[in-house]
Amino acid sequence: MTSTLATTDLRKAFGGVTALDGATVEFQHGKVNALIGPNGSGKTTFFNCVTGMIKPDSGTVTYDGRDITGKAPHTIARHGMGRTFQLCRTFPRMTALENVLAAVPVGGLLAGLRGAKRRSEIDRAISWLTRLGIEHLAGSEARDMSWGQQKLLELAGVLMSEPETVLLDEPAGGVNPALLDRIGLLVRELNAEGRTFVIVEHNMDLVMSISDHIVVFDRGRPIASGPPSVIRTDEKVLGAYLGV
Ligand code: ADP
Repeated sequence: MTSTLATTDLRKAFGGVTALDGATVEFQHGKVNALIGPNGSGKTTFFNCVTGMIKPDSGTVTYDGRDITGKAPHTIARHGMGRTFQLCRTFPRMTALENVLAAVPVGGLLAGLRGAKRRSEIDRAISWLTRLGIEHLAGSEARDMSWGQQKLLELAGVLMSEPETVLLDEPAGGVNPALLDRIGLLVRELNAEGRTFVIVEHNMDLVMSISDHIVVFDRGRPIASGPPSVIRTDEKVLGAYLGV
């Protein structure tokens, strides 16, 4: 099986603080992958490096075998990788529908689209809102939606670009239990349709129930990887979480 997203000896320091300390990681195509680890273990920095938000000091990032190290976020997105953010990026004063349309690189050009093309982009946006169960909020401003609904809205925007790999940064953070179940189901459904996921998440119930493969970070590098059944009982993992 080919790897979709892989890093070799990735390093990043902020001043004197080492965030990534030689992270060599491989995520497989077609799987729901999770990246877990204690606070400060480098997960967000890893996401930022592989999506081009920050440049690593050294090491390589490849996507489907192509070197994407240090490339700009929009270039990496064009290769088929989309991501959401821990603190959810939506435009508060725009409606849900406008948000989803604005999320696509061509979204800003929508005003220039006419007739059938314009209609089809709007239809696509509505179908993603429907798929994520928030179509009834299409005309509501993002700021009037709950936190969980905004997270789904951000995901709808990411899905508009039809990414083959979706990186989710804490999809469960601050989300109520009902929406949490929906997010878990959606990830599995979208994965069954062929999308690869890489998810940073603190909610262990969710991680253990939806992941095929888990990578555990501690102090800027992986200390374990494998299916949930292996990770659950790994002594190094338990030690990292207990701080011993
Ligand atoms: P995680 O996502 O696992 O909580 P982070 O990648 O956010 O970990 O952080 C890893 C380490 O790098 C932490 O010690 C954090 O304080 C530090 N760090 C992350 N980003 C910055 C930054 N922009 N400036 C300084 N230190 C940072």
